[in-house]
Amino acid sequence: MNTENFSLSEQIVSPSYIRQGLQARRTHEHLIRLLIEKRKCPEDGWDENTIELFLHELAIMDSNNFLGNCGVGEREGRVASNLVAQRHYRFMHGIGRSGDIAAIQPKAAGSSLLNKITNSIVLDILRVAGVRTVSSCFVVPMATGMSLTLCFLALRHRRPKAKFIIWPRIDQKSCFKSMITAGFEPVVIENLLEGDELRTDLQTIETKIQQLGAENVLCVHSTTSCFAPRAPDRLEELAQICAKYDIPHIVNNAYGVQLSKCMHLIQQGARVGRIDAFVQSLDKNFMVPVGGAIVAGFDDVFIQEISKMYPGRASASPSMDVLITLLSLGVNGYKRLLKERKEMFTYLATEMKKLSEAHGERLLETSHNPVSLAMSLKRFHKDNDKAVTQLGSMLFTRLVSGARVVPVGSEQIINGYTFQGFMSHTNSYLCPYLNAASAIGIKKQDVDLFIKKLDKCLKTLLKEKRIPGTEMEIGTEILGKPEDAEMAEWSESVRNSLKVGTDEENHPV
Ligand SMILES: *Cc1c(COP(=O)(O)O)cnc(C)c1O
Repeated sequence: MNTENFSLSEQIVSPSYIRQGLQARRTHEHLIRLLIEKRKCPEDGWDENTIELFLHELAIMDSNNFLGNCGVGEREGRVASNLVAQRHYRFMHGIGRSGDIAAIQPKAAGSSLLNKITNSIVLDILRVAGVRTVSSCFVVPMATGMSLTLCFLALRHRRPKAKFIIWPRIDQKSCFKSMITAGFEPVVIENLLEGDELRTDLQTIETKIQQLGAENVLCVHSTTSCFAPRAPDRLEELAQICAKYDIPHIVNNAYGVQLSKCMHLIQQGARVGRIDAFVQSLDKNFMVPVGGAIVAGFDDVFIQEISKMYPGRASASPSMDVLITLLSLGVNGYKRLLKERKEMFTYLATEMKKLSEAHGERLLETSHNPVSLAMSLKRFHKDNDKAVTQLGSMLFTRLVSGARVVPVGSEQIINGYTFQGFMSHTNSYLCPYLNAASAIGIKKQDVDLFIKKLDKCLKTLLKEKRIPGTEMEIGTEILGKPEDAEMAEWSESVRNSLKVGTDEENHPV
């Protein structure tokens, strides 16, 4: 309601009440004004009413919601289902124009404003999270892998001769495919084993650049967040090498926004050397559905060049999801989530250490990895890797998601490239192991239940396999104890309800 409508209302309802209503509305509007004026994430989260008021105000600025509008074009923001309209708060036009995802859409002033404001507050959050000098970013409605592809394609125009991408090995398929899809040849740099940890081999990278010739290298493609025992890449040194040879540097920061260590590495890399863009997942860092990523960097011109690579218009959904999320959390809410995550990481590490030692294993020493932990499964190794995979299946059947068992020496061929020891980031790691991570949103209850289930699975397996060195070596009866019987019964019922196979049939990777 505007002031005119408010004064008219005073003829119907007592003016003092109407003025109170007007005052109340102004407090919501004040928050909206601050947002548009400062274009920063609010310190404190907004209530849902203010967020919805803001979204409705924006949506009625789009032509599909104009009263009396007649559309005679091929794209008029029409939707058949009201459920779909509601799901999108009646924003139908998406973002961008045919030639640039960041451009203003004339048919949709509200969506355009939403897009610009989202990009501004996301930039603010990247700064709050530790990359203080980031100067430009945009949300792109594609997950991380495709967004990396977009960056490589943008670089092609700057370096038409270059064919190769130098890539310190990380065993995650989408990172690898992002380069293949863009049409480049990955030059895989094996990691160095330092203690238990796998770290960037800087010497080999520099030698490779010299061998290939700097002008033939499109970029160095490094990674921060990753599964232990791999550590985040040595970003400072890589950034210096890139500066020295005048080679672009693209960083895959998939779930690194939530990790102050990774954000610090990016900030330092940009300070002492060269980082052209860093890419992060929306869902992994901001607790929204899968579908978006943020491309960010320190040079506005280059980031704009990437946004101009995107052909056509794009979905506004990921932008709207992250906007709603950040407005409802506020800076303080987001910081609280980061703090809780860090505390849970310490807790998970303590509990996994205890558990692994109780089973004659150990928590691998991976002090540079701030998010993922690995515990050895060396006693399972004797039984080939079958027991290791079986453990993975057992955890999966018992509704433990995200835990990952890694056998040694499993071979995988991806796009014609053969990876020895795939999943372990190296040809042959010291022993099989199990990964668990403490990522944003994790609760103590997740850790406790995971440890309990893992403990039970390990006991059952060791007994079944009669793996030596355990007090259960002599026992042959598997369902001897009530807790095992209960466990077996339960997993049977889960299997039935989910229609999944037995532990042996399942080999989730
Ligand atoms: C999640 C992730 C990706 C990208 O996966 P998308 O499904 O494309 O978002 C890439 N690299 C790493 C290290 C990841 O964790």
